[in-house]
Amino acid sequence: MSFIKKIFHTKNYLCLYLNDGRELMVPAEFLRKACPCSLCRHQPARQKAKSLKVLDEDAQIASIKKIGNYGVQILFSDNHSTGIFSFDYLYQLILSNEFCKSSIKSR
Ligand SMILES: [Zn+2]
Repeated sequence: MSFIKKIFHTKNYLCLYLNDGRELMVPAEFLRKACPCSLCRHQPARQKAKSLKVLDEDAQIASIKKIGNYGVQILFSDNHSTGIFSFDYLYQLILSNEFCKSSIKSR
């Protein structure tokens, strides 16, 4: 899927420019929690809750790497980088979150 025209990041947000002219911002801590890698997906719930508490204040985006037209790999400030966010997944995440939805701006 190639509805994303441009993608960049700040410490606290992943910013997406869509082909239809909309811009949107996804908070880093939200992405960190939604990391789709098997490590994060299969963490025991208790351990996860504990680590998320720490991450709430800490999670920032250190760098991103585009994976073709498919998605983006995000290196977080806690050195976690195994999650690849496909654009489809990102879009689903955005639609499932009120803040992200409300951040969508038309130009
Ligand atoms: Zn992960």
